[in-house]
Amino acid sequence: MSIIRYVTGKTKLLGVIGNPISHSISPELHNTLSNYMGIDAVYVPFKVEREKLGDAVRGLKALNFKGFNITIPHKSNVIEYLDELSREASFIGAVNTVKIIENKLYGYNTDVDGFVNSFKEEAGTGFTNKKVAIIGAGGAARAIAIGVANEGAQKIFIINRTLSKAIQIRDIIISNIMPYKECPENIESFQLNDSACTEVLKLADIIINTTSIGMHPDIDCMPVPEHVEFNSNQIVYDAIYNPSKTKFLQQAENKGCKIINGLGMLIYQGIKAYEIWMDITVPKEIAREIFNEFKNYLT
Ligand code: NAP
Repeated sequence: MSIIRYVTGKTKLLGVIGNPISHSISPELHNTLSNYMGIDAVYVPFKVEREKLGDAVRGLKALNFKGFNITIPHKSNVIEYLDELSREASFIGAVNTVKIIENKLYGYNTDVDGFVNSFKEEAGTGFTNKKVAIIGAGGAARAIAIGVANEGAQKIFIINRTLSKAIQIRDIIISNIMPYKECPENIESFQLNDSACTEVLKLADIIINTTSIGMHPDIDCMPVPEHVEFNSNQIVYDAIYNPSKTKFLQQAENKGCKIINGLGMLIYQGIKAYEIWMDITVPKEIAREIFNEFKNYLT
């Protein structure tokens, strides 16, 4: 018999609340991170029903958790239980990470950094002076649009089925992020299937799908019309990671584009949450190694 010492009275407590939760890879990711970083912490998943959300948050606070993640469907509803929100979380209207300091709850949204850091790592370039087309205007689009704007993209086009939601994101960026306050014409909204979209998609250096179209099991669907032509200078990104190559990415790859899926965003948003909880910077090489491990693990 051997004595198990993975968790002791000194171990830092972390977790995730959501529903469903059994598919979440966050426990594997954060427990792997603790192992790599040599930090004594444990991360546990909790299935929480909507009507128990307040009890769960108060419970984690009472139990001296260092922090926790929030996933579907609680990312917006959790806000009413928090003391403060980061700038990004309040723009997006959703929180995926909470840090507990001296009995106060601080909410963050790490999708912005997760997207930007993983994109730069995988694309080998950033957004400065780039024209970026974002398809979709849901939660993922908000985070990605804010990231792209913060990074100084020259032009941003937001294309969505429901035009009003694309306009909302445009307005958030114009009100809050330089240089769009000075040049509001540098960000435009379009309705999906509007004839202007075809032109906009031709003009873009980077095209990003943030809709759920093409996600498993509907893998034969595309977020843009079949006739849209990619060109080989474009970088084409899909926030979807299941399947790892959507039809959208496959078509772009056939035209010679560099393609990137959403797995990096998923891993890097988790790494950012860990950095917030532990007040550390995970070295780039470790982040890259963890990302590669998970790429193999999930395929
Ligand atoms: P969401 O808030 O529900 O937004 C969904 C978006 O997809 C909206 O813009 C919606 O348009 C559009 N859409 C859905 N069905 C459509 C259809 N049949 N035709 C045209 N547009 C359609 O979802 P979300 O949280 O942003 O997530 C979107 C995708 O991103 C999902 O596949 C999710 O897995 C992925 N995601 C990935 C990460 C990552 O870390 N890689 C993080 C977050 C999300 P309307 O506004 O017109 O309804």
